[in-house]
Amino acid sequence: MALLRVLTWGEPLLRKVSRPVEVAELDDNFRTWCADLVETMYEADGVGLAAVQVGRAIRVLAVDTDYGESNVRNPVVYVNPVLERSGAICEDSEGCLSVPGVRGKVRRPATVSISWLDMHGAAHRREGIEGLEARCLQHEMDHLEGVLFVDHLSPVGRTLVEGKLRKLAKAAKE
Ligand code: ZN
Repeated sequence: MALLRVLTWGEPLLRKVSRPVEVAELDDNFRTWCADLVETMYEADGVGLAAVQVGRAIRVLAVDTDYGESNVRNPVVYVNPVLERSGAICEDSEGCLSVPGVRGKVRRPATVSISWLDMHGAAHRREGIEGLEARCLQHEMDHLEGVLFVDHLSPVGRTLVEGKLRKLAKAAKE
């Protein structure tokens, strides 16, 4: 297994819209790469990681929001996920492996449902997901559209992190 390099703020690929994965692409090579994506997520202490964050603009996410508490690895790889949002809007603090050292409050709907393919092409659906997992799935889905959590910050929240973002962007150019 290989660890992948996580792109950081200022790298242009993070702003790209990811393309759907073709079913014909779901081969052993693809699954090995997904295992690397999952391994990279755990190694970086992340609860989620989108493929585009490690250099492939395809609609694939790895998520495991329970590992920090349970210490049992139970990763889910979502291929071509489709998300529906519902419920009240809640605000909570977020961070991102691609924006290291930056945190901020983001408002998002509390509940999501998700449909996706697994790495073998089988279709799945889960409804009524709440809490950290719902927040994480929305954060990761944003990556597939080239959106980063700092885009959702209030003007004041954005001002607070602007200095750190400038430093990250400078480092990304070097
Ligand atoms: Zn992120």
